Amino acid sequence: MDAEQFDEVFDFVVVGSGGGSMCAALMMRSLDKSVVILEKTDLVGGTTARSGGVMWIPNNRFMAEDGVEESYEKASAYMEATAGQSEDAPGTSPERRAAYLREGPKMVDFLVKQGIKLRRIPYYPDYYDDRAGGSAPGRTVVAELFNVNELPKEWASKLRPNFLQLAGALDEFFWIPTFKRSWKGKKMLATVMFRAFTAKLTGKHWVTAGAALQGRMLKAALREKVDIRVNSAVKSFIMEGDAVKGVVTTKNGREWRVGAKLGVLVNAGGFSQNQEMRDKYLPNTSTKWTATTPGDTGEMIRELMSMGAATGQLDEMVGNQMSIPPGRENLNGNGLELGGIGGQMDLAKPHAILVDQSGVRYMNEGGSYMEFCMTMRQHHLKVPAIPSWWIMDQQFMDTYMFCGTLPGSKKPKEWYESGWLKKADTVAELAALCKLDPAVLKSTLDRFNTDVRAGRDTEFHRGDRAYDKWLGDAVAKGNPTLGTLEKGPFYAVPMVPGDVGSYGGVVCDTNARVLKEDGTPIPGLYATGTTTASVMGRYYPGAGSSIGPSFTFGYVAAKHAANAGNIAG
Ligand SMILES: Cc1cc2nc3c(=O)[nH]c(=O)nc-3n(C[C@H](O)[C@H](O)[C@H](O)COP(=O)(O)OP(=O)(O)OC[C@H]3O[C@@H](n4cnc5c(N)ncnc54)[C@H](O)[C@@H]3O)c2cc1C
Repeated sequence: MDAEQFDEVFDFVVVGSGGGSMCAALMMRSLDKSVVILEKTDLVGGTTARSGGVMWIPNNRFMAEDGVEESYEKASAYMEATAGQSEDAPGTSPERRAAYLREGPKMVDFLVKQGIKLRRIPYYPDYYDDRAGGSAPGRTVVAELFNVNELPKEWASKLRPNFLQLAGALDEFFWIPTFKRSWKGKKMLATVMFRAFTAKLTGKHWVTAGAALQGRMLKAALREKVDIRVNSAVKSFIMEGDAVKGVVTTKNGREWRVGAKLGVLVNAGGFSQNQEMRDKYLPNTSTKWTATTPGDTGEMIRELMSMGAATGQLDEMVGNQMSIPPGRENLNGNGLELGGIGGQMDLAKPHAILVDQSGVRYMNEGGSYMEFCMTMRQHHLKVPAIPSWWIMDQQFMDTYMFCGTLPGSKKPKEWYESGWLKKADTVAELAALCKLDPAVLKSTLDRFNTDVRAGRDTEFHRGDRAYDKWLGDAVAKGNPTLGTLEKGPFYAVPMVPGDVGSYGGVVCDTNARVLKEDGTPIPGLYATGTTTASVMGRYYPGAGSSIGPSFTFGYVAAKHAANAGNIAG
């Protein structure tokens, strides 16, 4: 490697500050190698910092500590029953799935040793818990809340904010909407309010979920002297023959060539913010419906494709059903903006269903958000279903949160005036407002109500799985996802297949090396996260199926590049 062709040389270069980036950097530093992370935007942490921050890591140490039934074999059976069922998904293979299952728990152990405070959420069912090896308690790992003031002052404002701006953990937020009806809800609300109050007195600034995870990672990375640079977009790669030797970025307004002795890891996110790529790979979806951060523009995937990298699953995304109230159309970038949007946690509550534009119900509304949106998009090819209609009755409005508003509260006038929220005294009138056939909508509701009274969704089995029930009413008796739609007024809002990320990209091997079309690795080039074709194939096995693999394959890439580990394929 000729040092003169570079402005600077590091052992390892990471493109993007996403999920796996700081994990890989910490691994490199633990082996005494120098690392730089080059982040395009002015904030650190990527969509990972904005997210729920949940990692799906089967067989993790916290499950063992809590005595939750788990084993490599059980987790492997589940991976086969989900990811393993994917067709035409080169990102997943028996070898990659095994590498994930073996390395994920080690990655968690490594982070704990690095002082990252992690824990499990006590009950967060796998999304297909009824399949072989499925776990109802779940396999999720999250970070403890993080006090941003633990970061050096100049870095505190550079951590990307989370979509939740309150000092509470995900499992606390889960209960808070029930505070009027349950003691646990009241307790969780009081806990979060007390924490926020004492934070004011003690000068703490708590962040939660993905910001807590990435905040803790950033603190450790800075402590270990990882060189992290914002406003440093990588444009291209420096090659020697077919091997990657460095990257071209910018520094102080001029082109800056950075050499990488051991390799380059691309952790630059996916292409959710790129409409041209969406039109090509994810038709009938829009950048207006993505909750990802502005850097998710896909140029690194394109650059890697131009270098001959193989791609897979570009037609998959991690869907996130959403209905967007007027005034909240522009999701891009800032933490708070998700607050008013209904979707993922709502449609499996009692007294609500989804119908297509002919008024027919066509799915189990309690499934994973990825499957929910996939079903919408597939159904739309047969019957107009984008948008579909989220139908509710007064019982729903009286009992549950609706797009960030409290149960029973008056909804903003402009929601009605803009025509986004439809309200009618009868089902027939509601159908007319939504341009649905009143007879079809009535028969859909009649059929659903008959099932509800019998306690079983005979059509789509909503509520049969632990996961559906978890999405339902936390304090309801019987089947907590089912409730009749019979008490007027009736309501409807349009629902679209939004997303929290794309799911396809370059194909990698068990060591996270980027592969060419012929299956051989591009020397010196690694990738992880949504830049890659997911190891989960066309499935989302459980909460954290994006960030878990991003961290794990970042860790694997660093070990391999530093010659500290070779994951057999
Ligand atoms: C609200 C919300 C909640 C979510 N909750 C969860 C969850 O709990 N668990 C889960 O698994 N998934 C969750 N997801 C999805 C998940 O957050 C993302 O899929 C995942 O974080 C993507 O991580 P990544 O490692 O691919 O990179 P990202 O975190 O997306 O980071 C990539 C970084 O690379 C930068 N970059 C891009 N191009 C360049 C370039 N050319 N040069 C330099 N830098 C570049 C970007 O600016 C960005 O900062 C959620 C998403 C959202 C929006």
